Formats: sequence, C-alpha cells, structure tokens
Amino acid sequence: LPITVRSLSEAIGMKTGELSKRLLKETSQLYGNNSPVDFETAALIAVEKNIELIVKRQKTAEELLIEDFERLTREVDSEKLRPRPPVVTIMGHVDHGKTSLLDKIRRSNVAAGEVGGITQVIRAWSVTHKIEDPETGEKVIERPITFLDTPGHEAFTKMRARGANVTDIAVIVVAATDGVMPQTEEAVAHARAADVRIIVAINKVDAPNANVDRTRRQLYNLELLPDDMGGDIQFVETSALTGQGIDDLLNAILIEAEINLADDLQADPDRPAFGTCLEAYMTSDEGVMATVLVQQGTLKLGDIVLCGANFGRVRSMQNDLGLSIEEAGPSTPVLITGLGGVPNADDPFYAVDELTTAAKIAEAREKKDREASLNRFTAVKDIDMLSAAKSKLKITELKIILKAEARGSVEAIRKELEKLTHEEVTTRVLHAGIGAITESDVQLALTSPQDTLIVGFNVTADDAALKLAEGREISLREYQIIYNLVDDVKAALEGRLKPIE
Ligand code: GDP
Repeated sequence: LPITVRSLSEAIGMKTGELSKRLLKETSQLYGNNSPVDFETAALIAVEKNIELIVKRQKTAEELLIEDFERLTREVDSEKLRPRPPVVTIMGHVDHGKTSLLDKIRRSNVAAGEVGGITQVIRAWSVTHKIEDPETGEKVIERPITFLDTPGHEAFTKMRARGANVTDIAVIVVAATDGVMPQTEEAVAHARAADVRIIVAINKVDAPNANVDRTRRQLYNLELLPDDMGGDIQFVETSALTGQGIDDLLNAILIEAEINLADDLQADPDRPAFGTCLEAYMTSDEGVMATVLVQQGTLKLGDIVLCGANFGRVRSMQNDLGLSIEEAGPSTPVLITGLGGVPNADDPFYAVDELTTAAKIAEAREKKDREASLNRFTAVKDIDMLSAAKSKLKITELKIILKAEARGSVEAIRKELEKLTHEEVTTRVLHAGIGAITESDVQLALTSPQDTLIVGFNVTADDAALKLAEGREISLREYQIIYNLVDDVKAALEGRLKPIE
C-alpha cells in the first residue's frame, strides 16, 4: 500500500493542505490528497514533527501462515520449564586447537568399550561432567553439556543471521604459542554480536614456546577481562595434548550456565519437540539424514516432523554415539531419518500432530523461499540503507566493521573514528582487522544490516563476500584515502550518507 498525502496527514497529524505545501517545497511537485508520497520524503517530514514513521511491507499469505504456525507451536508453558544442558560452541583461530580440545573432551567422556565408541557420527554431542555435591564434597552430581562442532564462526553467525540461535556459550580458544590472531578477534566479535556468554581457553600451555602472560594481555586488550580485573570472563588454561585444564574448562562451562544463564537454560521436556537442523544430506540407502538439535520438548520415534520445507515421520533416531534411541529431550543432538527432502542447515523443525499441517506449512515455505530467491538480484553497492531519512529515524548506534591492509592503518582509522561524536548516534567498531573484506565480515553485518557499515581501507571485498552481500541490504564501501572514509562515516552518523552512484 503506497503512502498517500491523506494517510500521511492522518499518521502525523498535519493538515492535508499544509502537508501538500510542505511536499511542494521539498520535492517541487504538486500533490493532491491521493497522490503517493515516497518513503524517504514522508519519513523526513515525519521526523520534523518528531514522529517515527514505520512502513511495513505487507506480508504474503504464506508468510502469515508460517508466522502463525511458528508462534503457536513455539508457545511454551512457563510453569513447566525445567533446567536444560547448555549448548557450547568452540571458536578461535585456525590451528589453535579447537578440534583437539573437542576430541579430548569427547574421548575423556566416552567409556572404553561403549558401543559406537568414539567414532563421530554427528557434528554435535553431549558429555556429562561430574561436579562436587556442595554438601558432601564428593564428585557425584552429573551435569550434561552439549557441544556443537561448527566448522567455524562463519557457520555460527550464518545460523544466527537466519534466526537460528542455538548456542548459549562460546569458548574462545587461543593458543598461548601464537597469542591473539585475526580470527581470534573475529570469533570474539561474532560471539559478542550473538550475545552469547564467552569463556576463554588459553590452549597449548604445555608447549615450550607458550607465553600465557602475553596471551592474557592481548585478550585484555580485546576487553575480555577476568573478575580480578573488573570483568566477568572466565579464563582457563588448557592443553589438548596432555589433558591439563580440560576438567577446569568443563567446570567453567557449568559455572557459567549456573551463574549467568540459569534463566535462559530452561525447556519443557513434556511437549512436542521443536529445534534447529544442524546439517542434512542425502544418502543412497537411508534417504535423507538430518542432524537436529532438540531445543524444546521431546522428539520421539514416529513423530511427524516438519523441517524447513520438508516433512515426514521420524523413521530412525540415533544419538551422538550412533546408538538407536526412541526419544530425545531438550539440548540433545540427534540424527534422524524419514524426511522427504533435504532441509537447509539452520532450518527450524517442529513435531506436529497432523501430516496435513506439515504438508501445508512445508508448501508455504517452499513458495516463500522461491519468491525470496527471485527478489535477490540487485548489486550490493547500489543499496544503501544508511540513506538520509532512515538513519535519522531508527539508528542510535552506528556499527562499523573495519578492514585495512595493515595494523597501522587499522589503528589510525580506529582512532579517527573514535573521535567522531554525535548527540543521538554513537559509533561502535564492531570488528577491526587486517585483510580483505570476507564472507565472515558480511555475515557479521547481516546480523544488524540497517545500522552496520563495512568499510575497507586499501583492501577489497573478496568474491565470497560480494556473493553473500549481493541483493542484501548491506552497506559496504572501499576507500584509498582515510579522510574520505572518516568523512563518509561522519556523514552516515549524521544521516546524510548518499548512496553510491
Ligand atoms: P584447529 O584448527 O583449531 O581445530 O586446531 P587443531 O586441533 O587441528 O590443532 C592444530 C595443531 O595444534 C595440531 O597439530 C595439534 O596437535 C596441535 N595442538 C592442539 N592443541 C595443542 C596443545 O594443547 N598443545 C600442543 N603442544 N599442541 C596442540
């Protein structure tokens, strides 16, 4: 529905005659009561009257159907909530020991001779860790923890950008031999943007060239501070080689869960399941195999499940050890078969009562996805969400992702940006790093595209980054002159950044 002089007049309480005059002055065009007004102009005039104009695109019938379905199916009864295990992701720079740590944790937890052994069936698993009973001091209370083996922080943020929030705690691994590296900083930025709790594992402390103190100082510079320095981040020293500190890491996770996340780590196990697909693929003998994380309720063998645009009955279900199971409760990752098609990683899944419901919603999703993909092709650089009126309306914090060719430039530009002030909008450098603008930077921007600006200094965006940004509302700009970069950020702050021609 277009905005007209009449509807705008009603919305902002300005007489139509007065409004037409104001519009004439703004656009040098004549307006009747039913003339359409473009959003930018309407927003500008609304802002002058201190009114925030929000124009909602009309949703399609399919979108409404899916929304209604999801809202109803996700309703949980707060009376029935019980504690659930934390879901943990390990992130960090390549080679700093993510895989080794996960391996060590898993091996130490699987009893020798257990069926399935340590062959990894799915990229997610549960471990149980014993903690002390506060009354007897004995290690008797068993607490489960779920680990997700996501291949990197890109995957992590991609899931979040698509609305799938599966992680509660991010363990940031830093090798004491190398210290903080670019991907460490990225991982921290991603975890912060996702608003998950962070635990730091300083790994490889066994190595002769480990420098724990230097690594700690570098982490403090990223504003990761332990409690004795006024922060609330737990630091653990580990060696995935000797096993040193693994127990401490698991304790730290349970402490985090208890102290900072107790209210979030709740689920009702006695309702139909819903959760998120972690990965899925087609096999020749078993058909579609999907690893899903149950987030609420209990998934049972024979349940009718809808997953993205696919559905079916759960024909078989395996846990992380490859054992057949009949039910899976909250925070449990399971491998299921029975879906009619391959869903996307990060599609939501729901157990539903009727096959017809599943079929109906699956069809709506398919239609919605098809339409979304038709709308996708416009060049990145033409779209600039930070254009005049919009930023004046909504943005209170301008987030910046800064990439440059050298450490010196990053620091110089960051300093310049920090000098910029504006009474209503604050600037926050979400992430600053050396090298090309990558897919991961775009992922990060996608979590809040309307108020995030990606700027590159003497670097360009790589193909994967451009591909991901294509057709999405991302502000991405490249510069060779620091002055121009800073000036544009200033313009964005003031809401007068012009789109690139
Ligand atoms: P990822 O890329 O972060 O998953 O790192 P990996 O787990 O693959 O480890 C990279 C290398 O570092 C491998 O050669 C590991 O054996 C080694 N490594 C990992 N953790 C430790 C550790 O605690 N101490 C030592 N000395 N080496 C380690």
